[in-house]
Amino acid sequence: MKPNEFLICLDAGHGGLRPGVGADKYTTYPSKCFHHRQGNFHGYGWFFEGVFNRSLANYLYNYLLDYGFQVKKIYEDINDTTLNKRCQLANSYKTLAQSSILVSIHGNAAESTKARGWEIFTTPGETKSDKLATFIGNEVIKATPGWVHRTDRTDGDLDREANFQIIKNTAMPAVLSENGFFTNYQDALLMIDKEWQESIAKAHAKEVLQAYELAELDGFVGTDTGACVEKYFPEIKAVAVEAEVANLKITYAEDLKVAQALLTS
Ligand SMILES: [Zn+2]
Repeated sequence: MKPNEFLICLDAGHGGLRPGVGADKYTTYPSKCFHHRQGNFHGYGWFFEGVFNRSLANYLYNYLLDYGFQVKKIYEDINDTTLNKRCQLANSYKTLAQSSILVSIHGNAAESTKARGWEIFTTPGETKSDKLATFIGNEVIKATPGWVHRTDRTDGDLDREANFQIIKNTAMPAVLSENGFFTNYQDALLMIDKEWQESIAKAHAKEVLQAYELAELDGFVGTDTGACVEKYFPEIKAVAVEAEVANLKITYAEDLKVAQALLTS
């Protein structure tokens, strides 16, 4: 599979900012935002989750394009489109590629302003999404030493599980990451920092790359070496050679021993 046969549907939660000044220019005001008593954030102490989501998703978008993948945004710059519409869009893009995944970017909020940290969600049960979540999770943990990682290892992997519509009603492995609590001042300071956003986006992108490279998400099982080479290394030509009794196929270490014994005998 070539990189452009791998498709990432990219989602950034909620809406953006309409032109003008004032918190009410934020499409989902007064929800999905928080006013801090100190700091500027997106203006006068306001932190708008949808604006943060778009900024982080945009870094990720560019990294994924650099890898040569197909990337389709299922969100709009300003409008907070319905989850139904986003799911429909993602599912309509599925036919564009041999294999596809969905990543939804969010920021977190809590009643308690003390809550902070990172978490990633998949739908309940063991699916291909869990593998993707584990890839991304491990990379984010590496990229953010000392931060709070709200993993749930009760079922053996680090993701948390919830039936969020965007990961439940989309027909591809899907994860939703919550990249810090914008209701926590320390987290909000991290989240507004462009370099921090870049490193979190890079962690997501690197692991999408790993998912692609392992090609585990497309469920391909090669029946023999030739089939695998043809699928994953299209630049290498697999050729059929007429068989002779003396031909020996070497697949396992044991075969190699037999071949060596024959050659030296
Ligand atoms: Zn959100």
